[in-house]
Order: sequence, then structure tokens, then C-alpha cells
Amino acid sequence: MFGLMQQRPLLISSLLDYAERYHGAIEIISRSVEGPIVRSNWATIARRARQVANALQRLGVNRSERIVTLAWNHSRHLEIYFGVTCSGAVLHTVNPRLFPEQVRFIVDDAEGSYVFFDVTFAPLVEQLAPQLSRVKGYVALCERDAMPAVNVPNLLCYEQLLADESDDYAWPSFDENTASALCYTSGTTGNPKGVLQSHRSAVLHSFALMAADTMAICARDSLLLCAPLFHVNCWGIPFAAAGTGAKIVLPGMKLDGASLFELIRDEDITFCGAVPTVWLNLFAWMEQNLNTTDQRHLKLKRVLSGGSAVPRVVIEKAHAYFGATMLHAWGMTEMSPLGTCGSLLARQADLDLEQRMPVHLKQGRTIYGAEVRIVDDEGRELPRDGRSIGEIQVRGPWVLSSYFKGAGGKVVDDDGWFRTGDVAHMDQEGFITITDRAKDVIKSGGEWISSIELENLAVSHPAVLEAAVIAARHPTWQERPLLLIHRKPSADVTKDELLRFLSDKVAKWWLPDDVVFVDELPHTATGKVLKTNLRDRYAGWLERA
Ligand code: ADP
Repeated sequence: MFGLMQQRPLLISSLLDYAERYHGAIEIISRSVEGPIVRSNWATIARRARQVANALQRLGVNRSERIVTLAWNHSRHLEIYFGVTCSGAVLHTVNPRLFPEQVRFIVDDAEGSYVFFDVTFAPLVEQLAPQLSRVKGYVALCERDAMPAVNVPNLLCYEQLLADESDDYAWPSFDENTASALCYTSGTTGNPKGVLQSHRSAVLHSFALMAADTMAICARDSLLLCAPLFHVNCWGIPFAAAGTGAKIVLPGMKLDGASLFELIRDEDITFCGAVPTVWLNLFAWMEQNLNTTDQRHLKLKRVLSGGSAVPRVVIEKAHAYFGATMLHAWGMTEMSPLGTCGSLLARQADLDLEQRMPVHLKQGRTIYGAEVRIVDDEGRELPRDGRSIGEIQVRGPWVLSSYFKGAGGKVVDDDGWFRTGDVAHMDQEGFITITDRAKDVIKSGGEWISSIELENLAVSHPAVLEAAVIAARHPTWQERPLLLIHRKPSADVTKDELLRFLSDKVAKWWLPDDVVFVDELPHTATGKVLKTNLRDRYAGWLERA
């Protein structure tokens, strides 16, 4: 017997309708590409999203056609988010910080038809246009008088396009499994692969972000969105924000400490999610400006870090500067992205910071909706004993079933489990501790050394801005850890001091064999340390004569 409840499709338009109807006056604030702060609200976003939909219709865009964006975090990008998805087309956000050849590959592979771009990316668009034969037109995200002088076919002006359209448009209803958004993984090796979300997966993932044990996004929130809108749909937060009517604050292209602090203070930010690099920069700026900034009236109490392991110092500074408890989350593009989140259990909630630090350093605990397990090399599930290390597998309604166009072949097993490539252990309550990405593990004499743990300890030294640990070849041990350090400006620390600092924190055989000081560490387009590049350069470091 079937239940007798309604089969309403889970569509992104239902999230936007909710925001417009009940929270229309709630603000959407952007630091525009032009510079000034621009104030919009949910009613305006929804109205302009309908104009976007009408414009797409006039341009002849069909259902499921891929609409490309090359844009920063601002309200125009958000309008396109909703205008494209709600009308049944596919939002294809492309990371403009990738190598131009990768951008070309991604746009071409996805068969994008129109490219909406910020004027800052005009040179990139002009460079790529001759090779993008399938693209029908380029829309510059600006006013008529700010149009860039670029030589691309069918150049259109976004504000002109919208000005010509009515805001009368009824969002269509369709199958909830219809594709909504396409995001490519940055693919540190090989070509990037597309992850194609559906309306259903996006709406279910939004519910997950509203849950109290994850981001707890709600109507009282003022959300600072530091994750790029071009990276896994900004972790899905814009959709959850619509479904609650939360205020959104978009930092544009300015993620430096001073600019973020200004928004946190002036826009009464209550929640902010960012990668550790962004937090490190913000806190480094705050540290230098403690005397001139007033932290007493800040409302930021919920902070989340994800994308790579959060260093202890970030957790400490979030507590010291905001009185905030750091939520450490883990996920990936292939899972929309949320898989775990480090909200505390009853017995942990009243512990002081030092006592609960080990919990915050873990990558969070499994949330309802994303099934997570750890398996050995033969794919057998390992005990949840907080010790047994293996690869993480995931499955669930917001986990991919295959990549776009079947790239990479069959990527989930017959039971739907997807191999993440992350290596971890899990405890009884579902807290995971990631020790490495499968390709980054250091195997010294057959024993594993966690590069992530060593990096976390190294950045807790006051003179260290950023650290990376890689496996360097070794004649006796096959691999040994090599520590690369980017010092804070004007700070000084020697190799011996650093090794002494680490020596009472890890087993002796974990201590790096050498420390290399660098002016900068290379990063992927999503802000992670680019270890492949470091391995290319330094894997032979210990073999030097
Ligand atoms: P990519 O950087 O490859 O484009 P994603 O942005 O989807 O892909 O990143 C996913 C990967 O980031 C995960 O597989 C994992 O290796 C890493 N990651 C994400 N969150 C964390 C975390 N909290 N701690 C450690 N690693 C993390």
C-alpha cells in the first residue's frame, strides 16, 4: 500500500518562492565588482531572476541547456543562480581561477551555450572565445556604460538584457530529478569531471544545511558567503538561505581580512563558512588590528571551516575573537558537498575549549542523509573504533551516481558506494578523522604518517602562516615527511626551532626529515595547497648529495 501524501516535486523554485513571499524585504548585500556595497533583497532577487528567465527564453535557451557563469560572489550571480535553475536550464558555474585551458575544456565539455561573465574576466573570455565554437553569446555582468571592449561574438549587456524583459514569469513544474547545476571538480590530475546536481538533490541538501546539527541556517541569520558561488554552488548555502529567508552577504572579489571584518561588523553577520586559508588571513589581520577594532558587538557566533583540515589556531582564534565554536565540516563536490559536520554532542557541549579541542580537530561527524563508512583495500567495512584507517566511501541522495557524460566510467559500486579518495578513521559516534588524501599519504617504512596532522601542528607555531607536508623519497624508509613553511611577514623561525616545537607533540619517527622555507605555497583554484606541484619540485629533496 502506498501512503496518501502529495507528490509535490522538490524544485529550487519552491525555495525562491518561499523567500520572496515571506522574507521579500530581507537584504542581500554585495560588495560589487565595481567596488561599492550594493543592497538588494529577496523580492528583488526573485523579480530579476524572472527577468533572467524571460531573457533566456527570448535567447532561445531550451530546458537543460547549460548556462555558464564566470563570476564572483554578488547579487547578479545569485539572480542567475535562480533564474537559470528555476526555469529548467542548468547552471554551470566555472571556476575562473583555473588555468585558461581547463576553463576552455570545462565550458566545451559541458556544451555551454551562453556565458555570463564579470568584466574582470573579459580578457579570459576574449582569449577563449575563438576556441569555444558552441557558445552562442557572451553576457557581460554590468551596466550599458561599463561594457568592456572585448572582441567576442554576440556580446550582450546583462542590465540591458534584463531591462528589456518583463518580470512576469511563472516558474514551470517538472520532474524533481531534472538537472539543476553542473560543477566540475578541480581535478589536480587529469581533466576535470562534471558533477551534475538535480533539483531533488539540491532541495534535500538544503534541508540538511538548515538542520541544527549542521549549519543550522535559519531566518534570523545574516550569512557571509566566503566560499565562491563557483565552487560546489557555494556549498549549497544560497539554496538553503532561500528556503529560510536568511540574509545573505556576498563579499565580491575581496576576501582580505580588512574587507571581511568590515562586513562581519557592519552587516551583523551571524554565520560564516570559509576555507582555512580565508580564516587564517582574517585572523592574521585581526591580530594586527586588535587595538583599533572593537569585537564586543560582533554577532558572529557560528563559524564553519571546510575544504581542508582546520588548524588548531583557527579554532582558538574563532573562540578568542568571536566567542564562536568552530564547526569543522568535510565534504566534496561529488557530494554537493556536505558529508560531516562537527556539532557537539551533549557530553561535549560544556567542556572548555582545551578539553573539546580534539573533537574540533576531527572532520565532524556523519550527518543524517549522507551515509559514510571506512573500508579497507578490499572494500570491507572497518570497525568504527577511532583507529582503523581506510578509505572513506559515501552514498546518499546528494551523492553523485556518475560523472557528467559518464567520465571516468563506473564510479559507484553496485550498492551505490562512491570511493572518495580520502583516508580516515571513524569512531563509534560517526566522528571522522581524515589523515590524508589517498594520493598524499606518507608511508615511512610501511607505517603511515599523517601529513594533515603535521601541517596542523606546524601552523600552530606563531611564526608560521602556512605549512605543507609531503612525502619525499628516502633510501631507507622509501618515504619520509618533508615540511615546507611559509612564514608570517616579518616573523622568524629556524628549522631547529620548528623541529623542537613539534618534538613533544608527535612520535619521534613522525618528525620531518627537513624543513624548507618558501616565499609562498602553490594553491589549487579552490585554495588548497597544490601538493602535486610540491611533490614534483621537492620529492627528491632528501636524495640531494
Ligand atoms: P577539489 O579540491 O578536488 O576540487 P573539492 O573542493 O570537492 O575538490 O574538495 C574535496 C576534498 O577536499 C575532499 O575529498 C578532501 O580531500 C578535502 N577536504 C574537504 N574538507 C576537508 C576537511 N575538513 N579536512 C580535510 N580535508 C578536507
